[in-house]
Amino acid sequence: MKHNFGAGPCILPKEVFQEASQAVIEFNNTGLSILEISHRSKEFEQVVVEAEALVRELLNVPADYSVLFLQGGASQQFAMVPMNLLPEGGKAAYLDTGVWATKAAKEASKLGHVEIVASSSDKNYTYIPKDYSVPSDAAYFHFTSNNTIYGTEVFERPNVGIPVVSDMSSDIFSRVIDVSEYDLIYAGAQKNMGPAGVTLVIIKNELLGKSGRTIPAIFDYQAHAKAGSMYNTPPVYSIYVSMLNLRWLKAKGGVSVIEQENIVKARTLYEEIDRNTLFKGTADKDDRSRMNITFVMENPEQEAAFLELAKERGLVGIKGHRSVGGFRASVYNALTISSINALVDAMREFEENTVK
Ligand SMILES: *Cc1c(COP(=O)(O)O)cnc(C)c1O
Repeated sequence: MKHNFGAGPCILPKEVFQEASQAVIEFNNTGLSILEISHRSKEFEQVVVEAEALVRELLNVPADYSVLFLQGGASQQFAMVPMNLLPEGGKAAYLDTGVWATKAAKEASKLGHVEIVASSSDKNYTYIPKDYSVPSDAAYFHFTSNNTIYGTEVFERPNVGIPVVSDMSSDIFSRVIDVSEYDLIYAGAQKNMGPAGVTLVIIKNELLGKSGRTIPAIFDYQAHAKAGSMYNTPPVYSIYVSMLNLRWLKAKGGVSVIEQENIVKARTLYEEIDRNTLFKGTADKDDRSRMNITFVMENPEQEAAFLELAKERGLVGIKGHRSVGGFRASVYNALTISSINALVDAMREFEENTVK
């Protein structure tokens, strides 16, 4: 058995894989595979309707927001956000908390003026900047709620007084959020919602079609909203598998239940990182992510040996991102506490065999 700590695409529940694989053979007694049915068929329309309803229910999305299933990943949203929200000659404010935030700001800077209100690049993004002010004339404020690479997370929406846009790719559905505090939320599915290939966008309707720019329809939120995420052929299978995963989450009791599990999972691993004399966390304690747990060894020369032990134990995907080094355990919703315990056991064993 493997314990998949991969950062994305990520672990999904076994039941979801089973049902998803069944639908490849035959979907819903149609005599057809999910891979060959028309996206306009009533069977698939029901999938989109249910997926949207589950997003709305699980996140308590207010009625005056649209829920869209798009393509191009979170990276396409880096460009779509300014295309749709930043008027010609306008200004946008970005919080720089890592590679993804930087990329988002860079795309916006191609379409207007970007003000970086604060950055934690001085300490390799190991913390979330707290004291900054946001220009009141900016069209929107953008921040990354969970920094997948550095293992930092913003648990409270910054109070900035202008429309707020958040990249929640790696912590959406992991904790309770108040969607009404945001104007636009986006997330590539492959971190916590489903497989790669679909991107969730939740946008306040009053922002649709408001930038004053002429933008290609395929990049226009309004075109996708009007078409109910069927402006063109949607990523049928990715939406279907995401829907199965959201059903699983609902059956578990929803986001507030998974949040409690995620708190326990993260605490268990951080406690071992802090206790174990060989390991140390890389992120500031106050800003530690519950989804991506980054840590290194006091003696980096031992890291290869620990990775070897991890491999023997079936612990997959814990090598840290090259810009941080060491290890990163991504502990998304479907990862169980038993996988956390397997990692903690390996860390303990490594310590016992190392320190005499
Ligand atoms: C993975 C990730 C991205 C990039 O997502 P793609 O879907 O590959 O474009 C962007 N932002 C965050 C926070 C991520 O974790």
